[in-house]
Amino acid sequence: MPATKRVLVTGAGGFIGHHLVKRLKAEGCWVRGVDIKLPEYETSPADEFDVLDLRKYDNCLQTTRGGIDQVYNLAADMGGIGYITASLADISRNNILINTHMLEASRLNGVQRFLFSSSACVYAGYKQKSADVTPLREEDAYPADPEPGYGWEKLFAEELCRYYWHDYRFETRIVRFHNVYGPLGTYEGGKEKAPAAISRKVALSRDGGDIQVWGDGEQTRSFMYIDDCVEGLVRLMASDYSEPLNLVNDRLISINELVNLITKLANKRLVKRHDTSKPQGVRGRNSDNTRLAAVLGWEPSISLEVGLEITYKWIEDELRKAGRVPLKVSAYSAD
Ligand code: NAD
Repeated sequence: MPATKRVLVTGAGGFIGHHLVKRLKAEGCWVRGVDIKLPEYETSPADEFDVLDLRKYDNCLQTTRGGIDQVYNLAADMGGIGYITASLADISRNNILINTHMLEASRLNGVQRFLFSSSACVYAGYKQKSADVTPLREEDAYPADPEPGYGWEKLFAEELCRYYWHDYRFETRIVRFHNVYGPLGTYEGGKEKAPAAISRKVALSRDGGDIQVWGDGEQTRSFMYIDDCVEGLVRLMASDYSEPLNLVNDRLISINELVNLITKLANKRLVKRHDTSKPQGVRGRNSDNTRLAAVLGWEPSISLEVGLEITYKWIEDELRKAGRVPLKVSAYSAD
């Protein structure tokens, strides 16, 4: 019988990390989670959970102890477009420290494979100026013109993974997420991303009222439901591919269309109020999934309609539990 795989997930107190721990446990792995905080909405099923600040090198050495086979490095200081454009120095410094220390500690402690979670924010801004954007291939990150702060540190960490192979033959995998959404993700406080923010706003709006939309809403993006994300991560880790790989569903949709979709799911009619003083990021961004399909023999397939329905209901329920949206009225109650 093969020995149980020992896996470390950093950022296991966060959205993707927590879902990944659940998946790895279900597959029979021994899992250690680590984060600066515990998961917010559920208890982690990890065999061990270290609460540590991974900006500190000694903590990275400590959490990679004891014969870890694989590391999924998901810990990062990150958030939606408002958050990542507001604090360039802090985000860059925090994430450079986490990534450099985690790579080195993993190598010294004999980890066999290390997956780094990069972002579509590494892609060159000059290739994303139109809402009707040409889908981005992995090589479109160069010549470099990434998102200030968050995009630059992700691009550099990708390079660092390459250098670790060059100098030490240390095995790395690099995933470029675009927008991941689903239940158990942050939905308010400034770090939430568009699907969660819009779901919260829709849930809190009265039928016939307004909803504030950042920018003119014509900016476009593509999205991926969390179950597809976790599937892609596990497949990439198992693959022999060490170059950066896009991971997202390649259906392009504008933010206005996303608002329409969520409003319809909520069975409400809302008037959009566009606030063009808010940051909206690049004008258009989509993924060319040719390489993803070739490398993994698979592509994300859960539709936005299905994924958003689950996500919206979860956020609405959370707000209901907090007494911020009215309790459900029975469909049969007299009115
Ligand atoms: P998240 O914010 O929910 O999770 C990140 C976790 O990292 C958080 O729980 C946070 O507490 C932890 N963390 C931050 N600083 C830390 C520190 N100093 N020490 C220990 N832990 C620390 O974000 P997520 O959506 O789960 O993202 C996971 C990874 O995927 C990140 O690297 C992120 O940059 C990347 N990514 C996510 C998306 C997306 O749409 N969610 C898109 C592109 C890239």
